[in-house]
Amino acid sequence: MNLDGFPDLPDFPAGEVWLAGAGPGDPRLLTVLALHGISKADDIVHDALVDSRVLKLARADAHFIKVGKRGGRPSPQQRDINETLIERARLGRRVLRLKGGDPFVFGRGWDEAIALVKAGIRFRVIPGLTSGLAGAALAGIPATSRDTNHAVVLAAGHRAEDGRSAGDWEALGRLGQPLILYMPMAQLADIAASLQRGGLAATTPAAMIQSATTGNERLVESTLGTLADDAAKSGIGSPAIVVIGAIAGLRKELLASMVGWQ
Ligand code: SAH
Repeated sequence: MNLDGFPDLPDFPAGEVWLAGAGPGDPRLLTVLALHGISKADDIVHDALVDSRVLKLARADAHFIKVGKRGGRPSPQQRDINETLIERARLGRRVLRLKGGDPFVFGRGWDEAIALVKAGIRFRVIPGLTSGLAGAALAGIPATSRDTNHAVVLAAGHRAEDGRSAGDWEALGRLGQPLILYMPMAQLADIAASLQRGGLAATTPAAMIQSATTGNERLVESTLGTLADDAAKSGIGSPAIVVIGAIAGLRKELLASMVGWQ
């Protein structure tokens, strides 16, 4: 894609790493800077979550290194990914580290940035549309609306490294504010039970959105009390985000006029 003439696009110098978010999937949701990086990079070090339509925008001679981590499957250690970035940069390559969504939202982007700092390698951070906010918006679910919430919590259902839940879900339930959960599926029943112990009603609206903005997108509407059952019944699976709270019930007010994202 030709971005010539777009104002102030930075050079991508040899030996630099760009830590970029690819957004939730649909290439039209890339930022201009991410697209610029994709079109200039020598090496693209990407996750499994990065959509193949995005990777197709790279140079014909770009070198792809897939380091995808997916829950439950054997995956490269974060240390190895850091090493790959450092090695390729030291070879004088223009290295694009491309992550699903935003690199600094549950994506280990921080760990990579710190590793690059320690190695003395120059890098740039390019934000991306995070799947929790973009996936919800495209389903007609606002992150906030004046009438429903003054805060919204982005929370990880489990840690990518060890599959354990790291959060105090009862405390989040006590907040009474909507939650948008990443990596929620493995712990869904436990999380839903804890949120209810914290005080969220079983009738709280919920929505599960799988593979937002890809050809495999699915949406299942539910409630907090029936979330785990509805997930099992519908067979909805990763990658998915789960929205819990009044905002999840608002989408039906938009359906009469809202045009689908495709
Ligand atoms: N950095 C990413 C999140 C990485 S954690 C971001 O900002 O979006 C991986 C989790 O992101 C998945 O388990 C899922 O919860 C969510 N996710 C990523 N892409 C998604 C998509 N297209 N649709 C739904 N959920 C997605």
